[in-house]
Amino acid sequence: MDLDQLTVAASIALWTVASLATAALVAQVVVRPAGRGVWAPAAVGALATYLGHLLAAAGAGRPPTAASFVLLVIGAASLAMSVMALLRTHQRVGLLRAWLDVLTGALMVVSVTLAAAARPVQRALDLDMAPASLLLAVPACAVFLALFALTGLRNTRALSTAPARLFLAAFVVMAVAEVAALLRVVGVPGAAAPIGVHEVGLPFFLVLLAAASWLRAPAVVVADEPARSIMAGPVIQLGVAGTLLGLDHAVGLPTAAVLLALCVVAISLVSILLVYRLITSLNGSRHQARTDELTGLGNRRALSLALAGVSDGRGLSLTLIDLDRFKEVNDVLGHDAGDDLLRQVAGRLLAGSPADELVVRQGGDEFALVRPATTAVEAAARAARVVTALEAPFTLGAHEVSVDASMGVAATPEHTGDAEELQRMADSSMYRAKEGGGGVVVYDAAVDAARRADLDLVGDLRDAVANDRLDVHFQPQLEAATGALVGIEALVRWQHPTRGMLAPFAFLPLAERNGLMDAITRQVLRRALVAKSQIDGGSGSRMSVNISATSLLDPHLVTTVGALLLDHGVPPHELMLEITETVLMLDAVVSRRVVSELVALGVGVSIDDYGTGHSSLAYLKDLPATELKLDRSFVAELGTDPRIATIVRSTVDLAHSLGLRLVAEGVEDAATLERLVALGVDVTQGYHHSRPVPAEELARWAAQRRAASPVG
Ligand code: C2E
Ligand code: MG
Ligand code: MG
Repeated sequence: MDLDQLTVAASIALWTVASLATAALVAQVVVRPAGRGVWAPAAVGALATYLGHLLAAAGAGRPPTAASFVLLVIGAASLAMSVMALLRTHQRVGLLRAWLDVLTGALMVVSVTLAAAARPVQRALDLDMAPASLLLAVPACAVFLALFALTGLRNTRALSTAPARLFLAAFVVMAVAEVAALLRVVGVPGAAAPIGVHEVGLPFFLVLLAAASWLRAPAVVVADEPARSIMAGPVIQLGVAGTLLGLDHAVGLPTAAVLLALCVVAISLVSILLVYRLITSLNGSRHQARTDELTGLGNRRALSLALAGVSDGRGLSLTLIDLDRFKEVNDVLGHDAGDDLLRQVAGRLLAGSPADELVVRQGGDEFALVRPATTAVEAAARAARVVTALEAPFTLGAHEVSVDASMGVAATPEHTGDAEELQRMADSSMYRAKEGGGGVVVYDAAVDAARRADLDLVGDLRDAVANDRLDVHFQPQLEAATGALVGIEALVRWQHPTRGMLAPFAFLPLAERNGLMDAITRQVLRRALVAKSQIDGGSGSRMSVNISATSLLDPHLVTTVGALLLDHGVPPHELMLEITETVLMLDAVVSRRVVSELVALGVGVSIDDYGTGHSSLAYLKDLPATELKLDRSFVAELGTDPRIATIVRSTVDLAHSLGLRLVAEGVEDAATLERLVALGVDVTQGYHHSRPVPAEELARWAAQRRAASPVG
C-alpha cells in the first residue's frame, strides 16, 4: 500500500468515525428527551459542522465555498446555543442577555482576528479581502466557542461534572483543529501533512461531544448570577472594540474588522444598559425587602441586619417604642385611621432622627430606633425628645387623638454583647415603661434580676401548688360576749425551699397574675374543711376562707364549694367566704350573683377589710352578706383617735340594722378588746388571742381553752 492509499484508507476511517459519532449524538437526542435543551442544538451544530467540513473536504483544502461556510456558521451558532443552554442549567441568566453576550463575544473575537491576520493572510494567499476574511472567520469562531465554553463553565462552577468537561474538551479540540487547518492553508511550514490535526480533529470533536451527551449529568442547583460580575463582560468587550477602533484610526484596519468592532460597541452598549437595569431592579427589591410598606421606615429585616453588627463588637443603642392605646384608635376610628396614625408617628420619628439613626417599624404599633456608637444615656435623651415629638395631638380625619408611647432603651457593649440579649433587654425595659404608664425606661440589670427572680418564684409556686405543698395557718375568732371560739380564719402560707416562710402578700399577687389563684383557693378550702373538726372538736364553729377577686368570678366556684362541703361532711352554714369590697366593685353584677348563689347554698359571706375600699352603702343593702369584718386599721387606732370610736360604733349599728354580724380583726391587746366589746362588736380576732398557727397547734390551744372554761 503506498502513501496515497494509506491516506485514503485513514481518511475513510476518520470520516466513518465522524459519521458514527454524529449519528450517536443525534440518536441520543431522539431517544432521551431529558436535557434536549442542551443536546438538540449540540446535535444540530455537530451535524452542520460535519456537513460543512464534508463540503469543504470535497473542495480539497481551498477556501470554503459559500455553502460550506453557511453550514459552518449555522454549526457554530447552534453549538453556541448548546453551550448557553448548558450554562443556563447552572445559573439563571436572562435569555436576551445571554444571546447578546454570545453575539458580541463572537463578533469581538472575529474582529480581533481579522484586525490581526486578515492582511497577512490576504498577502500570503493572494486573495481578495472577502475570502480572506471568511477563511479567518471559521477558526476565529471555533476559538471563540472554546473560550466561551471555558469561561462560562468555569464561572458557573459547572466544570465539576464529567459531561461538562467532555463538552469543553470537544470545543478545545475543535478550536485547535480549525487553527491547524488555517495554518495549513496559509502554508505555514510543518502544517502540510496530508492527514493532520485538522483531519483528526473533527471526528475527535464529534466523538467527545457524543460521549458528553450520553453521560448523564448529575442534577445541579440553579444559582443566581452574581450581580458583581455581570457588568464585567460587556465592559471588557466595549473596551476591546474601542481599542480596535482606535487602532483603525491610527494604522487603519480591514473594513470587516472595523465593522464588526462597531457592532460590538453597539451591542455591548445595549448589554450594559440591560445589566444596569437588572442591577437597579435587584437593588430595588433589596431595598423593598427592608422597607415597611405602610410607613416607608425600615422593617424587621432591616432591624435584624442592623443588629447583626453587634456580634462584631460594634457599639450601638436600641430603643423600642410601643404606642399606648393604639388599639383603641384602631377599634374606635377604624383601620384606615390607625394606618394614618402610624404614618404620622413615623413622620415625627423621622423628623427628629439623626442622620446615622435607623428608624424601623417592627410591625403593629411597635417602632425601633437603632443608632451606632451611642450610649444608653444618649439614646434615652433621644427617646425623651421622641416623647416630646409625640405630645402634640394627631389629626385623623375629623378627630384629634393623643397618643403616648412606652420606650425601652438598651445599649451595647454597655449592657450586653449579644444582639438577641440586647433586644430582650430593650423589650423588658419597654414593658416596664408600659407598666409605669408610659415614658422611657433604660435597662437596669438589678430590676431585671428582680423580675427574673419573680419568674423563678412563679415556677416554684406552680410546683408547690401542683404538689399540694402550700401551708394553711389558722387564727381563732372569739365571741365578744363569752370569749368562746366561734370562728376560725384560714390563712395561706408558703414554706419556700430557699426563701423561708412566705406571707400571702409575697406570692398571692404573683399567683393572681399567673392564673394560679383558683387552684390555691381550692387547696385552702379543702385544707380548711379538713382541719375544721380537728380544731373545734366538732363544736360547730365557722371556718372562714378568703376568696380572691378572680376566684369569686370563677364560674365553677359555687359547684366546687358545694362538692367540697359534701365531701367533708361540713354543713354549709359552718363555712364563711371572705370577700373584699374591691372584688364587689370589680364586677358588681357577677359578684352579686355569685354571692347570692353561695348564700342560697347556705354558705355565709363576709365582707373583709370593711372600711378600706370604696365603701358604698348601696351594695351593703343589696348584698345578701352575713358578716362585716372591720378592717384592722380602725381597730389599731381605736385607743388613740376618739373619732374612730364613733366610726366603729356607727358601723356596729349599721351592721346590726342590716342583720349582719360585726367582726373586728387585728385585736392586739386587752385594752382594745375591752373597748371593742364596749362598742358592741360581736366577734374579735387578733394576736391578742392567737397568731395564725398550724392546725394542730390551734387544736391544742382550743382544747386547753375548752378545758379551762367549760362555758366555751
Ligand atoms: P385578711 O383576710 O384581712 O387576714 C387577716 C390578716 O391580718 C392576716 O394576715 C393575719 O395574720 C393578720 N392579723 C391577724 N391578727 C392580727 C393582729 O392582731 N395584728 C396584725 N397586725 N395583724 C393581724 P396574713 O395572714 O398575712 O394575710 C394577709 C391577707 O392575705 C389576708 O388579709 C387575706 O386578704 C389574704 N389571704 C390570706 N390567705 C388567703 C387565702 O387563702 N386566699 C386568699 N385569696 N387570700 C388570702
Ligand atoms: Mg380575711
Ligand atoms: Mg382583713
